[in-house]
Amino acid sequence: MDIYKSSEIWFVTGAQLLYGDDIVQKVNAQSQTIVDGLNQSQALPLRIIYKGTVNTAEEITDIFNQANIDKKCVGVITWMHTFSPAKMWVHGLKSFYKPLLHLHTQYDREIPWASIDMNYMNLNQSAHGDREFGFIVSRLRKNRKIVAGYWNDLQTQSKIGLWMRVCVGWADQQSLRLIRFGDNMNNVAVTDGDKVEAERRLGYHVDYFSIGDLVDTMQTISEQEIKDLVALYEEQYVFEDNVKVNGKDRLQVIEAAREELAIRKFLAEKKANAFTTSFDALHGMNQLPGLAAQRLMADGYGFGAEGDWKTAALVRLFKVMTAGLSGGSSFIEDYVLHFKEDGAILQAHMLEICPSISRNKPRMEVHPLSIGGKADPARLVFTAHEGKGLTATIVDMGNRFRMIVSKVDCLSPEEDLPKLPVARAFWKPEPDLETGTSAWILAGGTHHSAFSFDLTLEQIIDYAEIADMELVIIDENTDLYKIKESLKLNEVYYALRGF
Ligand code: MN
Repeated sequence: MDIYKSSEIWFVTGAQLLYGDDIVQKVNAQSQTIVDGLNQSQALPLRIIYKGTVNTAEEITDIFNQANIDKKCVGVITWMHTFSPAKMWVHGLKSFYKPLLHLHTQYDREIPWASIDMNYMNLNQSAHGDREFGFIVSRLRKNRKIVAGYWNDLQTQSKIGLWMRVCVGWADQQSLRLIRFGDNMNNVAVTDGDKVEAERRLGYHVDYFSIGDLVDTMQTISEQEIKDLVALYEEQYVFEDNVKVNGKDRLQVIEAAREELAIRKFLAEKKANAFTTSFDALHGMNQLPGLAAQRLMADGYGFGAEGDWKTAALVRLFKVMTAGLSGGSSFIEDYVLHFKEDGAILQAHMLEICPSISRNKPRMEVHPLSIGGKADPARLVFTAHEGKGLTATIVDMGNRFRMIVSKVDCLSPEEDLPKLPVARAFWKPEPDLETGTSAWILAGGTHHSAFSFDLTLEQIIDYAEIADMELVIIDENTDLYKIKESLKLNEVYYALRGF
């Protein structure tokens, strides 16, 4: 994804002039060595730019102001090599609004027992310098990520790398434009919410276009473009006779290609990277553009069905945070429960599941939809592969957004599903079906969610911290009573904190 090439993280080292220029020069050289070492790590998806040592309040404020306005900078790493009196950081930190990572590390891995003297002690003060810095960040009530560990260890670098992916996702959301073709599905509560507050808190902008505007764009698509796209479908998917040339459902695949090309063109013209559709709003269209939604998600677009713009933005976030990884991510919906010992849930949607999570080559199929009153839509049918993943949603609680994340274990369905005409996944929520679903319902979680095989829970926590948003975690340690208690405590916290 291009945004990874155009983004960078800044590295700022705290020091002071108390011990003389010699010390600051050493701090500077050793910081450069650390940054060079980190930049050689395969675990980091972004380049780190070393911005030098900061020794005064003015230098600190300047560097954070520059970071705020620099378009490439998506986050700042700070490290206190020596003691950096933290009142110097107040103004800079107060104005800084991008993601912050405090690295608690040290130039040398171990204590040099035989040679350590007072000069060494004055130079290597991270152990207490990072505490002084940590206090002021806490005192300012500023969310940040803390990574403690030796900078040249893979574990430390991996934590920084995972955080960098969250920074890129956050930066993308700040300039994301999301287009709704049609409104939210009538009367549905959980997929709706406050779009003004979403822009203020989460960054993305939600626009509306009438389906007629998309239908106009469909008229501009040439027969050759459609022919080329259908040829690509034939390369990528399994085609049975009914969808091949002269097959009885061929026309539906051709019309689906027209819709896909129109949506791509429309979104490109509007510089939008996420969209929603609705089976209720298809006037002038042949079919629900489910195939388009599936294929655009596979290319990194966010998508939400039935006007679900919050989930569309979240799917886009997941796509950006996991760019280049192989597990896959998708818009998804809870469908049918399976109450057995070790119970699980069948996940699907009318059509719109991303083929990036498929275990097999998807099949191009055409079937009736039974709602919406349109012609039979084309869709890709497949089963998700096995593996651990997580699924998340954001709901609007009236005075705040709440994110809910659930760890899940994707399994193979017990039997083939020969009559099910849609893509599907089958998963067991942690810690078990009954507890996991009860906790999700208690927290007010949606039927729609954004699912990923590649994201870690720590990344979701990092994101919620950057967004300064309530987060409910459902995992192997979930206890329903504790969830209830934490939801009550959160009510008090957000009421006291205000807006
Ligand atoms: Mn739905």
